[in-house]
Amino acid sequence: ALTVDNLTEWINAFAQKVTDKKDYLSELDTPIGDGDHGNNMARGVKAVQESLDAKAPADLTAAFKQIAMALISKVGGASGPLYGTAFLEMAKKSKDSTEIADLFAAADAGIKKRGGAQAGDKTMVDVWEPLAAKLASGSLTQAEIDEAVNSTEEMIAKKGRASYLGERSSGHLDPGAMSSGYLFTALIETEG
Ligand code: ADP
Ligand code: MG
Ligand code: MG
Repeated sequence: ALTVDNLTEWINAFAQKVTDKKDYLSELDTPIGDGDHGNNMARGVKAVQESLDAKAPADLTAAFKQIAMALISKVGGASGPLYGTAFLEMAKKSKDSTEIADLFAAADAGIKKRGGAQAGDKTMVDVWEPLAAKLASGSLTQAEIDEAVNSTEEMIAKKGRASYLGERSSGHLDPGAMSSGYLFTALIETEG
């Protein structure tokens, strides 16, 4: 189950990965997008850390809300509102459950509702949906995270900027799937 302390550890580990891979995430976004995903996410996770440092959240719900608001206000683009929705849904769910599987199921449903993407559309949903299901079944490994992220390479994008390229979007990893993969890796490394 999540607490404010292990949520903070998880988010700090995610922030570190995004910061380390900022250039790589923007490179992934270059052939099939506008080349800003790493910059967007790095700006967002910095704002998240500043928010948590400035005001220690009173409880898990407050912590999720602070994270969501920082992401929504600073990431921008398509991914900002989607990551923001994921954490807002976790905030809501945390009022009746602190179980990781329940929180991720709520976040996955929120992302799909907000962005309208389904599995196979070459978006972050191709990571969130199968990995939220793995968490519900009780185990998640790095190999499964890699498999979900890599599954986006051959897909043809149906949502977001990459969809403008049609079939030419195939052959490239989806940047939002990669950053979402870091979120899940940070989770298993810290909650493990
Ligand atoms: P932008 O495309 O506005 O520049 P980013 O580059 O930050 O925003 O984020 C792009 C990522 O957002 C994509 O790689 C994809 O994973 C995700 N994305 C875009 N549209 C959707 C959507 N409708 N549903 C889910 N994810 C989406
Ligand atoms: Mg972009
Ligand atoms: Mg952009």
